[in-house]
Amino acid sequence: MLITHDTRCALDAVVDLVNTAPEDDAVPDGLPNLAALTDFVRKHEISDVGVLSEFDLSAVRKVRGRFAKVFAAPDARAAAGLINELVAAAGTTPRLTDHDGYDWHVHYFAPGASIADHLAADCGMALAFFVVAGEQERLRRCEAPDCRRAFVDLSRNRSRRYCDSRTCGNRLHVAAYRARRKEAAG
Ligand SMILES: [Zn+2]
Ligand SMILES: [Zn+2]
Repeated sequence: MLITHDTRCALDAVVDLVNTAPEDDAVPDGLPNLAALTDFVRKHEISDVGVLSEFDLSAVRKVRGRFAKVFAAPDARAAAGLINELVAAAGTTPRLTDHDGYDWHVHYFAPGASIADHLAADCGMALAFFVVAGEQERLRRCEAPDCRRAFVDLSRNRSRRYCDSRTCGNRLHVAAYRARRKEAAG
């Protein structure tokens, strides 16, 4: 499937967003305050975002919870239902743009949308394309039992099982190394 620059950015943002939510209470929230949200907006170069407020922070956390469910969805139908809700609540306004030297592409967030609605619209549509392409299962959670971070598997044969965090990435390398050795020995 074709993944445009903007889709790629939206995917990176939504994965990052979902992974700020701790899986268990021992881990602190990755979006604890407005400063963290401001950093998030800057890091992902989310455009047209006005002055952020506490209201934005709680709205983004709510949207984050809904995105987390998409990554945990057992099948395409469940994911589609969740994405439809997200995108409908955000009130999308598709429009073509070629800002900042990028090729023509579509932005979905409505002009003047809040940061939460912006993320719901554009990240929601980025995930929607995976369902449309029959690729919903690429939206995954890391299979390491102590991790469960969200990630998008862009490998050719959808074989990725672990996220690329240091521990899980290593785990993957170790498994591949052992498999190679076994093959060489066999
Ligand atoms: Zn754009
Ligand atoms: Zn992991």
